[in-house]
Amino acid sequence: MAAQVESVRAFRRNEPGTKREDWNRWAMLPFEEMDSSLNVQQWIQQIIAKDPSDMDVILTPPAEVDDGVWKYEHLRQVCLELNGLALLLQEECDPTVCLQMTATEQWIFLCANHKNPKECSAIDYTRHTLDGASTLLNNSKYFPSRINIKESSISKLGSVCRRVYRIFSHAYFHHRNIFDDFEARTHLCLRFTSFVTKFEMMSAEHLIVPILPSQIAAAAAAAAAAAAATSPTSSA
Ligand SMILES: [Zn+2]
Ligand SMILES: [Zn+2]
Repeated sequence: MAAQVESVRAFRRNEPGTKREDWNRWAMLPFEEMDSSLNVQQWIQQIIAKDPSDMDVILTPPAEVDDGVWKYEHLRQVCLELNGLALLLQEECDPTVCLQMTATEQWIFLCANHKNPKECSAIDYTRHTLDGASTLLNNSKYFPSRINIKESSISKLGSVCRRVYRIFSHAYFHHRNIFDDFEARTHLCLRFTSFVTKFEMMSAEHLIVPILPSQIAAAAAAAAAAAAATSPTSSA
């Protein structure tokens, strides 16, 4: 009888030698049955793996999850996955070419991970910012628990959002092929933009990568208006 019980148990782990197509492919576990203290992270990773493009499902917290924990865990997950984009950027984002962290012409972003904020090259800004985000999110002074998040600590998440977002915008405006390839696989910029919009963690004016349907429409309208303004007008 023991052997029979063993055979129906679902193992949720990747054994050595697991093939790429079988990676993380195990049956969905209901949230109520996730009994570890990392259940919210486990749930988020599970729904992302199921369909990374389904923002409604991914961003809707299970009924019993606290709002602060939900924001914290989502941001943590984005930072984790952003390392994948940083890795790709490393191949192309040359510190002698991308001397500063820029997206559009409008701003140069100073790297906040130094005693005095300074102009790190774009790739150094990316590395330092992801390191800084992970140091903060793992700082037990601000985040001693992953079950309860203090209100005063939630306010720290907004600045992490603003800083890591610049990695998306730099990739979009300066390394578009890398951005498009990464985004097609992960939908991470769409997820992050939907997340900060839904939970009001960044203002719309800072979200400069057109990725939400409303942003794409606005960008197209602005481009059309600019083209109309520069093309010679003719009248009969
Ligand atoms: Zn670059
Ligand atoms: Zn730096």
